Amino acid sequence: MIRPVIDMKKITKVYDTGKLKVEVLKGIDILVKEGDLVSIMGASGSGKSTLMNIMGCLDIMTTGDYFLNGKDITTYTEEALSDVRNKNIGFIFQKFNLLTKLTAYENVELPLIYGGFSKQERHERVMNALDMVGLSDRIKHNPTELSGGQQQRVAIARAIAGNPPVILADEPTGNLDSKSTEEVIKILMALNKKGMTLVLITHNHDIAKLARRIVHIRDGEII
Ligand code: ADP
Ligand code: MG
Repeated sequence: MIRPVIDMKKITKVYDTGKLKVEVLKGIDILVKEGDLVSIMGASGSGKSTLMNIMGCLDIMTTGDYFLNGKDITTYTEEALSDVRNKNIGFIFQKFNLLTKLTAYENVELPLIYGGFSKQERHERVMNALDMVGLSDRIKHNPTELSGGQQQRVAIARAIAGNPPVILADEPTGNLDSKSTEEVIKILMALNKKGMTLVLITHNHDIAKLARRIVHIRDGEII
């Protein structure tokens, strides 16, 4: 049997801004199994990023059940959650979210420092990850010295260096030209082929169609 990695039931999220409460997710059920490639599509504002942030334990749902790798994470403390996040999830964002003062190498290394890896282990992992995205010759470059596509490839290297079972990508090609988009998608597909579970938020139908399953969200509900 293929193990469920992300098992969410009746997830709701209510943002309470003081004056008014907005229900952004209205009871989402989603099951992602090991090795899956799932695309999430939906209009801007439909709740995709909110859902992804909850999947990645960056945000907390209002109600619902969430089992991540079989563990009920609703009972976890903030500290336990950040540990789970570090070990299990690699994030890729539309705006890359690299630290501009650090080199490509240092950006990829940073989560490994938090993860408690030795210097030697970090070096191997950083070099492997940057090699995987074709940037072995750019390790000392700062993000400002790299193209958008290269920056996103550094961000992918950072996401995979800790070898997490799950990659969450929130419109990873949203800021890229078509050539860079192709490169980034090629890398993500290769990672999925190697067994990484991939959840991919995208507006692009051609990209979404590469997934075995497309989940459509409208106004906080799966349709
Ligand atoms: P998507 O990623 O599909 O564009 P989001 O998940 O970012 O959508 O946002 C869904 C809705 O939740 C939007 O209406 C947005 O305004 C609202 N929202 C997102 N984050 C917050 C927040 N921190 N506080 C209040 N409302 C928010
Ligand atoms: Mg979004």
